[in-house]
Amino acid sequence: MSDVTFSKPGTLTPVLSRGWDEDRSWTLESYRARGGYKGLEKALKMEPGDITETVKAAGLRGRGGAGFPTGLKWSFLPPDDGKPRYLVVNADESEPGTCKDIPLLMANPHVLIEGMAITARAIRCEHAFVYLRGEVAHVYRRLLNAVREAEEAGIIGEGVGPNGDFTLRITAHAGAGAYICGEETALLDSLEGRRGHPRLKPPFPAVEGLYARPTVVNNVESISQVSGIFQNEAGWFNTMGTEKSAGHGLFSVSGHVNNPGQFEAPFGITMRELIEMAGGIRDGHKLKFWTPGGSSTPIFTEEELDVPLDYESVGEAGSMLATRALQVFDETTSVVRVITRWVEFYQHESCGKCTPCREGTYWMKQILLRLEDGRGLPGDIDKLLEIAGNIAGRSFCALGDASAVPVQSGIARFREEFEAGMTTPARELFPYEASAVFAKGGAR
Ligand code: SF4
Repeated sequence: MSDVTFSKPGTLTPVLSRGWDEDRSWTLESYRARGGYKGLEKALKMEPGDITETVKAAGLRGRGGAGFPTGLKWSFLPPDDGKPRYLVVNADESEPGTCKDIPLLMANPHVLIEGMAITARAIRCEHAFVYLRGEVAHVYRRLLNAVREAEEAGIIGEGVGPNGDFTLRITAHAGAGAYICGEETALLDSLEGRRGHPRLKPPFPAVEGLYARPTVVNNVESISQVSGIFQNEAGWFNTMGTEKSAGHGLFSVSGHVNNPGQFEAPFGITMRELIEMAGGIRDGHKLKFWTPGGSSTPIFTEEELDVPLDYESVGEAGSMLATRALQVFDETTSVVRVITRWVEFYQHESCGKCTPCREGTYWMKQILLRLEDGRGLPGDIDKLLEIAGNIAGRSFCALGDASAVPVQSGIARFREEFEAGMTTPARELFPYEASAVFAKGGAR
């Protein structure tokens, strides 16, 4: 994991990234040597309801994008009726720019397994799943190995724990690689063996999820954070972050910086600080725009460098923190080109279930390709905005909104570049060689 950079010294005690630099950090032996599974020991002595209350008190919010309070989500499950209920961990990471869960699983799969075991205890679940992208076969193998290690050590299995009353089986499932399967109900359909299509809600998964049984679906990082909450003293988690966005998280800085990587830091850190930690904008260049939460979030510029990166502050500044996928673009980058690539991605990944997204992403792509090529037609920009407006808020799932947002914010911030696309190709205004991350003397 040589490309992973860890928390700024003195800012916090890293938990997710603790020991990532160690040799074979992913093994059970290594995880235990740094306090791993102490949190589970503590949780297994507690009542399930108290575990949920502890997570609520810690203020943990879902790290998969929406930021919904994790403990509150667990408490939506109906009372136990003695029949199966499930925990499903969403590891189907694939938003452009989002790259936190895959490195986390590579470096420290046991932090997830411990969090899953604690969560399973809280929601009285005996069979949990991890839905992982099939393309990352190396991560899948690592996760399978870690599950096997935990089983062989008697940490999970049938009738384990200090009183022999804890049962948990973990199934790692490799998906076939569709962005839509990151949407929780499409993920459940896919896990059941069907084509991944979002389900109509309600019923929500907490009531009718996997195999029509109560199900908690949480992101990898959310569940991994549960381990740290129980490994440390009460109140430890809230000492970091802000009042409403407690704790810390992985911030993935990519693009035109000298040292891209994952940074574990408290919520409320600023992009200016993160860019500094990432070695600054690549030599000789200056920042043009950046995404606070991946390609589906409104873009920011230099004006927002000092906005605290927490859910509330980023929202007030007009964007979303989402998955903290901080993509950095310098002045050599064509905004039209970047947004065209993103919309191509969303068009390709649209599941086709609803008309606004299926048709709208296709037409936005056609117009953007024209503008990128300098062949824009009069009225193209207004047409783009009209199509985006007909997708946002009118689609069946969040993927539709995700495709419209970058178009709307790109035009709002850099309309002149879209206008230039009426006559001049982006490749002339912004030559590929200049913007390439691997350009001579540029970033890694
Ligand atoms: Fe499918 Fe797009 Fe509609 Fe979501 S918004 S259901 S991805 S067509």
